[in-house]
Amino acid sequence: MNKEELRKIKEKALEEHIPIIMDETLAVMEPILKEKKPEKILEIGTAVGYSAICFSEYLSEKGKIDTIEREEERVKEALENIKKVEVEEKIHILQGDAVEILPTLKEKYDVVFIDAAKGKYPFFLEQSLRLLKENGIIFADNILYKGYVMGEYHKHKQRTAVRNLREYIKAVCENSSLETQILEVGDGLAISKKIS
Ligand code: SAH
Ligand code: MG
Repeated sequence: MNKEELRKIKEKALEEHIPIIMDETLAVMEPILKEKKPEKILEIGTAVGYSAICFSEYLSEKGKIDTIEREEERVKEALENIKKVEVEEKIHILQGDAVEILPTLKEKYDVVFIDAAKGKYPFFLEQSLRLLKENGIIFADNILYKGYVMGEYHKHKQRTAVRNLREYIKAVCENSSLETQILEVGDGLAISKKIS
């Protein structure tokens, strides 16, 4: 992988305020991915491909990532970025709304990374559980949403997102087939392991 190109991709994304994964969140995920050596990763929310490119380092030899993005412009840029760092044979972008694409998927995944519309997290969880292998792991980014999820006050605009993120947390914590940690790292990261 071309690290210099990756650095440029990250810099450009930050300049353009694209909400790419935070360094400290990646730092928590990396050792877990390294140990797991996933064969298949599913990502919901590609943006410009930054996190998918980072994760591709930790795939097993023939491992692959499927990643979903609905914005055409972002898909275009992600495809270019994936080419630049030379990981195009490892990352497959599915263009469209994850709400429509997820129910059509059939193959199972070792790892799912949820990082898209916060109001859809409960639905993304339901689908991720269906698509997760035994001992698989679901990561959900932005789960604490700038602290709004823990706090009392949030603006009307954030209300639906907050309600759905809380619903996600409740669902993973109450699910007896999952072992869950909610970490305050970055914008909040939920890690749920499916136990057999
Ligand atoms: N994972 C990326 C950042 C993703 S930002 C990284 O860390 O590098 C979230 C992305 O999800 C945005 O590009 C947005 O367009 C996309 N998105 C939001 N809701 C979606 C949906 N329902 N279906 C598909 N993509 C969605
Ligand atoms: Mg995020």
